[in-house]
Amino acid sequence: MRVLVYGAGQLAQMMYLAGVPLGIDVQAVDVKDDTVVHPVSKRPLEQNLVQAIESSDALTVEFEHVPERLLEQAAKTDKLMPSMDAILVGADRVREKHLLERFSIPNCPHRIVTHLDQLDDCVKTLGDKLIIKASRDGYDGYGQWRLKDASQLESIKDALSGLDLEAVPLVVEKMLQFERELSLIGVRSRSGEIKVYPLAENLHHNGQLHVSVAPASQVSEALAEQAQQIFTTLAEGMQYVGVLAVEMFQCGEELLVNELAPRVHNSGHWSLSGAHTSQFENHLRALVGLPLGDTRALSPSAMINVIGCSTFSRDLLSIPGCHLHWYGKSVREKRKMGHINVTADSYAQLGEKLHKLSGYVPTEYFPELEKEADRLL
Ligand code: ATP
Ligand code: MG
Ligand code: MG
Repeated sequence: MRVLVYGAGQLAQMMYLAGVPLGIDVQAVDVKDDTVVHPVSKRPLEQNLVQAIESSDALTVEFEHVPERLLEQAAKTDKLMPSMDAILVGADRVREKHLLERFSIPNCPHRIVTHLDQLDDCVKTLGDKLIIKASRDGYDGYGQWRLKDASQLESIKDALSGLDLEAVPLVVEKMLQFERELSLIGVRSRSGEIKVYPLAENLHHNGQLHVSVAPASQVSEALAEQAQQIFTTLAEGMQYVGVLAVEMFQCGEELLVNELAPRVHNSGHWSLSGAHTSQFENHLRALVGLPLGDTRALSPSAMINVIGCSTFSRDLLSIPGCHLHWYGKSVREKRKMGHINVTADSYAQLGEKLHKLSGYVPTEYFPELEKEADRLL
C-alpha cells in the first residue's frame, strides 16, 4: 500500500517511519517544484507527480498551506483524505471561524475585517486588547499583530497598510485571559470510527509551541467530555478522515477553540512514546481503511521542541525514558529541528527528568523547560 503526502518535512518523515512496520510505503511531494521525494532523504524518486498519485491508495497533507492547484488535482481522484474542504478550513481563518459558528462550537470573540477602518469598531466591541491575525499563511505566530491598548491602534494600522484585506481579510480576536492551552488530537476512520487521545497541555513561547505534556494534569471528566464532543461534532460534520488537531483555550471549565490543524500535529508527538499507538500510525490506519489503534496514554509524558539549535549533548539520552527525534534540517532561527520525548511513571518523576534534561541543553533555546519541570514537581 502507498500513501502520498503533500509536503516533505518532519511530519511526512514521521508518517514514513510509522508506515514501515505496517507495510505502507509513504512518499512525499515537495510542493515547491512538484517533485516526488523520499520523506527521509528528500531525494527525488523516479515517479513524477501524476504517476505517484495514480499508484497511491491515499493522498494526504502534512501542512494546510498546500497550493490550491495541487489540492484540486488531488481532490479529483477521491483519494484525498482529509477532504479539500477540511484542508482549506485549516488554511483559512475565515473559513475556520465560519465552520465553528456553523457547528455552534465555542471560540474566541472575533470580527472579520476587510477594511482598516473596521479596526476602530473592533476596539469598541471587543476591547482594546486584541490579537490581529492574517487569515491565511500564518503559523508559529507569524502573521499576527498584538494591540495592547488603544494608543497603538494607529501604528498597527500603519503596519497593516500594505495588505490587500479584500483578498486576505484579517481575523481580529479579543485577547483572552485563559488558564491554559490544551489540544485534542483525534482520528476518524473511513468507516466513521472515532478515537481521541487524552488532552495535551501546551506551553508556547513567542507564539511557538515549546513543550507539551500529556495527558494534561487536572482534567475533569466534564472537561474531557467537552473536548471529545467538540472533536466528534467537527469530525462527523466534515466527514473527516485522518488525524485532526484541535487547539483550545481553557477558560474556567469551558473550552474555546483557537484553531484547527487538518493533519498530524506537533502537540501529538508525545504519542510516539507515550501512547499505545502514535498519531502517525493512526493517521495512516485511517487513510488506508485499517482499524484504528488504542489512543490511551501509557504514562505521563512530555514533548520538548528543539528550536533553532543543534548543538547540545546527545548524552541527554542517558535519562531513562528519553528519546530524540531528529528531523535532519539545517539550522535556522525559530526552526523546529527535532523534538525530545520523555516518559515517566508519575508527573513528579517527569518533572525530575525535565530538570535533568535542562542540564544538557542551552537554556536560551528551551525557555519553558525549567518552568514546566518546577510545575510538575
Ligand atoms: P500554530 O503554529 O499553532 O499554527 P498560529 O501562528 O496559527 O500558530 P495561533 O495558534 O492562532 O497562531 O496563535 C499562536 C499563539 O498565540 C496561541 O497558541 C496562543 O498562545 C496565542 N493566542 C492566539 N490567539 C489568542 C487569543 N485570542 N488570546 C490570547 N492568546 C492568543
Ligand atoms: Mg495555526
Ligand atoms: Mg496555533
